[in-house]
Formats: sequence, structure tokens, C-alpha cells
Amino acid sequence: MIIEHNKLRAFAAKLVAAGGSKPEETAIVADHLIEANLRGHDSHGVGMLVAYVRDFEAGTLRPNQSPTIVSDTGTISVWDAEAGYGQVIARQAVQWAIEAAREHGVAVNGLRNAHHIGRVGTYGEIAARAGMVALHFVNVASGPPPVAPFRGKEGRFLTNPVCIAIPGTTANEPILLDFATSRVAMGKVRVAHNAGKPMIDGALLDHDGNPTTNPSVMYEANRGVVLPFGEHKGSGLALICEILAGAIVGSASVKTATPPERGIINGMLSIVIDPARLNNHDSMMAEIDGMIAWVKSAAPANPDLPVLIAGEPERIARAERIANGIEVDETTWGQLVEIAGRYQITAPQ
Ligand code: NAD
Repeated sequence: MIIEHNKLRAFAAKLVAAGGSKPEETAIVADHLIEANLRGHDSHGVGMLVAYVRDFEAGTLRPNQSPTIVSDTGTISVWDAEAGYGQVIARQAVQWAIEAAREHGVAVNGLRNAHHIGRVGTYGEIAARAGMVALHFVNVASGPPPVAPFRGKEGRFLTNPVCIAIPGTTANEPILLDFATSRVAMGKVRVAHNAGKPMIDGALLDHDGNPTTNPSVMYEANRGVVLPFGEHKGSGLALICEILAGAIVGSASVKTATPPERGIINGMLSIVIDPARLNNHDSMMAEIDGMIAWVKSAAPANPDLPVLIAGEPERIARAERIANGIEVDETTWGQLVEIAGRYQITAPQ
């Protein structure tokens, strides 16, 4: 299925609204999912609605939830999303942090117990567009953990993502580094499994600890594991995300959450810095531009694969998918159409 993005957005909105979300929440969630698809991250696009519907039907995702403000000193706040839509409450938390950083130079928000916050880059983008530097550390608690620590063959983490955003300049778009600490995001294993395609080398071990490219090992009774990226370095960063967003923020941890009762829970530690408090704005921007040009001037090892800056692949994917539509694999589409049927929603043709 290749679907024009606005038609897919309207369809996604109807599925979200089926859970009882008010129009503003519906629009934010649908938009977030479509923007993830547009940026090439189908793992965090409309396919996630299968889990969201499962969770709002089970009561582990609570539509129209407002966050509880656990504490707020003006520069540091802790919010509890209480299983409300992460896309809505994480956005509000980051907007709070932007305003607080504008006033005080830096702000820290700990977000507890949000239902899935989706593509973390969304929040980095919001901060970078407001001229802020942002760092987001996220943990995930949802079912048995699929990601093994370095040297392990048993899961101990979920995909604990990190996002670091640097504001754009007049010449350049923001730098947006946003990735899972696993070799691949779990949703990408789901997409490959649904599409019957192999995974890249070095991402999976089967149950016995042997390397494999077969995504089905993650869906067997004797499940395999996903490896962390960058061996001990990614494994260390996964642990740091777990502790920063779990133990330190006070959100559900991979160790203590007992899904499926919990659905998909994200904790997030966000640090937002107004860079103008650290350095002269113009010289900083000139240095960022110079740095980007310097990195991109490296001769490519393969002439067909130019050197890119973090955030560029997503912008390229977005332009292409706006022009040509979003591809949804058959299994995911079948699942969405089945759900739509149950709620008397007509799927786009
Ligand atoms: P990925 O492996 O595609 O890496 C993405 C990052 O690498 C981006 O910053 C991108 O710009 C950069 N990048 C990619 N190719 C590049 C190149 N050739 N040159 C320079 N930079 C390049 O992403 P991923 O690890 O699969 O994560 C996908 C998404 O999943 C992210 O948006 C992440 O936030 C999200 N995620 C969310 C959760 C959650 O629980 N909410 C969990 C895991 C992942």
C-alpha cells in the first residue's frame, strides 16, 4: 500500500478518536505518527496504532489524560503522565522546558510513566526550532525486554532512545541526532518481520546466542535478542538511559514494570539549554555552520553515498514521501483495516 500522507493522517486520526480522544489530542497523535512515517521511521509511524488500540482497549493507555505536576522549582520539574498519550504530554513537558530555559538559561524535566512518546526527535525538533539545545534520555518498560547487554544473550533493556538537538542557523537546518540504543529500533524488526524481509547483519542473536538476520527469532516462543548498537558503548548508553529516565526520574523501569498490564511506558529526562547563555550567538552560529561544512567536505568512501549530518536523512525521506506517498507493509495494513472494521471506520483505498 502506498498512501498519500494526508489520507493516511485522516485515517490514523479516526483510529485514535475511536479510543475517545478529544480533537486536539487526536490531531497531535495522528500528526506525530504520520511525521514519523514521513521521516522514514515507519517503526514509529501508523503501525504503532495496533499497539495503541490494544492499550486503550485494555485501559493501559488513558486518552485525554492531563499530567500530574509532581514538583516544579521553576527550572526543574517532574511530571507524571499516568499512562496518558506520550505524544501529547511529552510535547507539553518540552514546551514547559523551553519556556523555563528561556527565562533561566537551563531547564530539566523528568517525565514519568507516559504511554509511548513515539519518535523522540519530535521533541528535539520543537526545542531546536525554538533556538534551544536539547538532550533527551528515554527508557522503555513494556513486556519482556528484547535487547541484550553487551556479551549477553538474554534481554535486559528495551530500545532506550537518546536524542540530542542543536538549533539550526540561517544556512543550516537543526542537527538532530535521534536513535535507539539497540542496533535497530524494535519497530524495525516488526516491519521486517511483517514484510518477510531479513534484518541487517549484527542486529540479532537467536535464542542460542547465534548471529542471525531472521527477524522471526523475535516472535518465537524461545525468543532471540536484539543487540545494542556499538557493542559495549551502546550497551552502556542503554543502561544510562534506563537509569536517568527510570530510577532518577522515578518512572517505571524495565525491571519493575509488569506489562502487559502497563502497556508501553516511556520515562524521559529532558535537559533544555538556551545556548545564547553560553556563547555569543553570531560566532556560535558561524562555528556551527563551519563545522557542518567541514564534516560534509570529507570525501565519501562510496561516491553514491554522500556524507550526511544527523537529521538530513529524515529531511530527504520527508521530501520523497510527501511527493510519492507513504508505503505501509501488507501485514500492518491488514491489522489497521481489521481494527477500522471493528470501529466502523472506512480505510482509504
Ligand atoms: P536510525 O538508526 O535510523 O538512526 C537515526 C539517527 O541517525 C538520526 O539522527 C539520523 O539523522 C541519523 N542518521 C541516519 N543515517 C545517517 C547517515 N547516513 N549519516 C548521518 N546521520 C545519519 O534510528 P533508530 O535507532 O532506528 O530509531 C528510530 C526512531 O525510533 C527514533 O526516532 C527514536 O526516537 C525512535 N525510538 C523511540 C522509542 C520509544 O520508546 N519512544 C524507542 C526506540 C526508538
